Amino acid sequence: MSAYQFIDHTFDVIVVGAGGAGLRATFGLAHSGLSTACITKVFPTRSHTVAAQGGISAALGNMGEDDWRWHMYDTVKGSDWLGDQDAIEFMCKEAPGAVIELEHYGLPFSRTDDGRIYQRPFGGMTTHFGKGTAQRTCAAADRTGHAMLHTLYQQALRHEAQFFVEYFAVDLIMENGECRGVVAIDMADGTVHRFRAHKTILATGGYGRAFFSCTSAHTCTGDGGGMALRAGLALQDMEFVQFHPTGIYGAGCLITEGVRGEGGILRNSEGERFMERYAPNAKDLASRDVVSRAMTIEIREGRGVGAHKDHIFLHLEHLGADVIHERLPGIAETAKIFSGVDVTRQPIPVLPTVHYNMGGVPANVQGDVVTYKDGNPDSVVPGLMAVGEAACVSVHGANRLGSNSLLDLVVFGREAARHCAETVKPGMRHRPFAADAGEQAISRIDRLRNANGPLKTAEIRLNMQRVMQAHAAVFRTGETLQEGIGKLGEVFQSFADVGISDRSMIWNTDLIETLELENLLGQAVATINSAVNRKESRGAHAREDYPERDDQNWMKHTLAWVDEKGGVRFEYRPVHLNTLTDEVETVAPKARVY
Ligand SMILES: Cc1cc2nc3c(=O)[nH]c(=O)nc-3n(C[C@H](O)[C@H](O)[C@H](O)COP(=O)(O)OP(=O)(O)OC[C@H]3O[C@@H](n4cnc5c(N)ncnc54)[C@H](O)[C@@H]3O)c2cc1C
Repeated sequence: MSAYQFIDHTFDVIVVGAGGAGLRATFGLAHSGLSTACITKVFPTRSHTVAAQGGISAALGNMGEDDWRWHMYDTVKGSDWLGDQDAIEFMCKEAPGAVIELEHYGLPFSRTDDGRIYQRPFGGMTTHFGKGTAQRTCAAADRTGHAMLHTLYQQALRHEAQFFVEYFAVDLIMENGECRGVVAIDMADGTVHRFRAHKTILATGGYGRAFFSCTSAHTCTGDGGGMALRAGLALQDMEFVQFHPTGIYGAGCLITEGVRGEGGILRNSEGERFMERYAPNAKDLASRDVVSRAMTIEIREGRGVGAHKDHIFLHLEHLGADVIHERLPGIAETAKIFSGVDVTRQPIPVLPTVHYNMGGVPANVQGDVVTYKDGNPDSVVPGLMAVGEAACVSVHGANRLGSNSLLDLVVFGREAARHCAETVKPGMRHRPFAADAGEQAISRIDRLRNANGPLKTAEIRLNMQRVMQAHAAVFRTGETLQEGIGKLGEVFQSFADVGISDRSMIWNTDLIETLELENLLGQAVATINSAVNRKESRGAHAREDYPERDDQNWMKHTLAWVDEKGGVRFEYRPVHLNTLTDEVETVAPKARVY
């Protein structure tokens, strides 16, 4: 058998990814009787969802009055009015049911004294349409993602989904604009597989690794976005990259917002609780973009801490050892390991760090991938769906609120499965593949496996990460972005000179990392070009040369296509201001203050 002979599989539905979104979709599909394959490059419980700390939002009202409409209001405001209000309405309304369902599946939530699910305050979460502080984020100590991912994996095992673990999806199989499946490599033995299905669901997570300092795992390389770009599809709102205020200085590891939810506070070199100046009401619990910008200004104006005055202190000593050990045990451990700090006595050195990608593969509420085609901004791409951080629905708009991602995963993972159950009949007949199905993926694998240029994958990756960190930062100007585009263009071109040393097909991490790098490069190019193109400030996208939000010209989603040479083309989709039902009114745009 030649190294590249295809091994073929046929399923009703394929899910690529086994994080929270992929697993929730997978067992929903299997439960409805559809034959389902879940392909994942890492063992399911090693997906980045496992690292989520703070919690999952839902207006349960366990710790005071709450209402899903207030949650919707906060999410629209948090999104800086770029989020689609129909999708946000759907998510917030489904949230309590989705969380109770997780509880019934066995998720070991922390408890209140009377035995209910414990809920903590989180950034931007309020009651009474912005007037009070909500305790809405359901938590399992500071290891919520860990608890959730294991619970979902156990549920997936109860149902008959077939897992293809440590299989790396390389490319989509597209025929006349329709997705027919994917090509994947079994990393252990190097065999190449074609998966055929009526629906392919991308649940591949974010692309934080395009940046130098990020909280996301090394595996967060946005492979789904890379595959979509190569399939000739656009990515949406890529300019919106969330910086989390509290990554550990130097290491990048996350210190959850839950720390500030429990009462932790940020101080500058003068010992001042500076958030009181920037967000008089919400203070340290203003939304993430607001806090990250305030920290950056403090550092710029010379009030940073440490020898280089280049970071900020996060204090939680005053909470007392008991609260820390009960509610934030993981944080105490992480701070000890990565910054040598005993949090019961000393502050943690922190810095805004890339954390989440609001942008991704554009999808509608049911999970269908959409594109702008023949004047229709909501044209569905047949056979292709996307959920989770890989997708842009868009419920997070220009800035995601903490604890809304875990919610997004389960709500839209479940909805995608429901939608497939309605549109695909178990065992429905498949057309044969076109004669050349998968050939493009093979030639890409072959080209990279035999690449013998002078540049190592790691070198090119580092160059890309440095450009993105410096030029697509918390604050942006046309000038610094343009400079970044020039430099990133050179990095993009230099990929033609990549060389890899391992020519085998058996566990060839050199090859896999190179395939991942190609995915990252396309998304880096989309991100920085979309950022220079958007001439306003909104949510996480802060242009110093255009400091105001401009609803007149820019209340719209960016769609960016990236061609093989790194050229970028734009179209736009309107923001959905309409709601789905008459149970709630549109949240009218206004200035966003905390
Ligand atoms: C440190 C940290 C803490 C966080 N804390 C919170 C929190 O408290 N609350 C909250 O709401 N959000 C939080 N977030 C955000 C949230 O955790 C993520 O957005 C979310 O978990 C992403 O889930 P996902 O299912 O989309 O993807 P992931 O969990 O990233 O999973 C991606 C899956 O895709 C698979 N995959 C990717 N590429 C391929 C390929 N080429 N072939 C095959 N398989 C592939 C991987 O194997 C993996 O299974 C946090 C994020 C981080 C980084």
